Amino acid sequence: MTFPIDQLLPILEDEVRTYQVPVVDLIAAQSQDPFKVLVATMLSARTKDEVTAAASRRLFARAGTIRELGQLSVADLETIIYPVGFFRNKARFLKALPAVLEEQFGGVVPADLDSLLKLPGVGRKTANLVVAVAFHSPAICVDTHVHRIMNIWGYVQTGTPLQTEMALRKQLPIQYWTRINSILVAFGQGTCKPQRPHCDRCVIVAWCPQIGVTPRNKREMTTTPMDSAKKLVSWNVNGLRAVLKNGFVEVLQGLNPDILALQEIKVQPDQLSDALRTFPGYQAYWNPAKKKGYAGTAVLSKLVPLRVIYGLDCPEFDEEGRVLTLEYPDYYLINSYSPNAQPELQRLAYKQDFNRSLLGFLDRLRQEKTVVLCGDLNVAHKEIDLANPKANVKNPGFSVQERAWMDELIAAGYLDTFRKFNQSPDQYTWWSYRFNARAKNIGWRIDYFIVDGASSDRVLDASIHREIIGSDHCPVSLLLQ
Ligand code: SF4
Repeated sequence: MTFPIDQLLPILEDEVRTYQVPVVDLIAAQSQDPFKVLVATMLSARTKDEVTAAASRRLFARAGTIRELGQLSVADLETIIYPVGFFRNKARFLKALPAVLEEQFGGVVPADLDSLLKLPGVGRKTANLVVAVAFHSPAICVDTHVHRIMNIWGYVQTGTPLQTEMALRKQLPIQYWTRINSILVAFGQGTCKPQRPHCDRCVIVAWCPQIGVTPRNKREMTTTPMDSAKKLVSWNVNGLRAVLKNGFVEVLQGLNPDILALQEIKVQPDQLSDALRTFPGYQAYWNPAKKKGYAGTAVLSKLVPLRVIYGLDCPEFDEEGRVLTLEYPDYYLINSYSPNAQPELQRLAYKQDFNRSLLGFLDRLRQEKTVVLCGDLNVAHKEIDLANPKANVKNPGFSVQERAWMDELIAAGYLDTFRKFNQSPDQYTWWSYRFNARAKNIGWRIDYFIVDGASSDRVLDASIHREIIGSDHCPVSLLLQ
């Protein structure tokens, strides 16, 4: 399989936005000064970012220009930049730098690779980084992270950073040349670490061939099924814009799911600002309804899926954004916002057609791998699943016809995961906004995680998060091994 670089680099770029910015990029962004970028890059070789950052700060406080740098002695420089790696050599190179810049380049930092390579102590890595970061010109800076990760991906098969640079010059699309170093340095420091890569939380694990890698969880051999389980959460938010103003980000951080399936988002992504439709650490997939302010589904996922399937291939349901499916290596996650049958069961026929299509879809997918259906199915299955069953036998959500479909689903070999662990009454996921119903726990259990029966052993836990407010539904969750 060819490594899909065009698809995955934007995902990684998004992922590392929340990581610590590599020090040279930070100095470039803050100073916009090629001299400072050059000096910081020279200091950064074989040195931790925090040490480089502190040494750069001390040095620029004394020498903010080429002329001021020339006035410092080697001894001064050694004292100022200590403890960066090879500080004595670097002090000598920095001492020689102003004279060379003055004599050969008119007192300014040159912008091309060949000229930069003539400066004392400047190798290809430093020169390429200065060209890319300070002058925004096409150049590929290959440091240990870029060399290592490109080989792990099998995108290149090379023995040295120079060979990697030459290989990337031939095959890496030019739009990534200036950015590849900062993406992979941040990613290499934060997730794909040299000694113990965090493949367990890597957003591109589904695509990575992991060449030559012993992932952290395999190496340590101490993980339990719980450690490696994925936490899936489903929540009918009854309007994403409202819940975004009402603690959504805190809920996301608190639950920390690997995948969060949302229903009834009532928004199209272009109606949200960039800040509101971006969730650090997650990729967002949207299936809004055509009609604004109505229905719709979305999924936030830490893991990059192999494939995303929008809808059921049925225009009458798909225009309402009812179903969004993500395929992962060993399971399908089907996020469904099933229709409400409406008062007098006016929309029952539509709902029954939807349910038939959904079940057919699940049956096809289960031939391949585990299926996990989640979402607001808009039906309480049994009397135990609502507070007032007798009063609701003819009402939408508890009608004989809707419950019959749940019977059919279970008879077809699917498992209502919550009931695997909890047979108690009074376990609800939706409460009317009227009559103080939530406080009195007069509710319905209409939000589910359902799996195919053959995958029952993969289900480690299923819960209802009644304490989480913000919508008239609360989230439900599943731990899947
Ligand atoms: S799956 Fe592991 S080896 Fe591959 S990129 Fe992610 S962290 Fe690195």
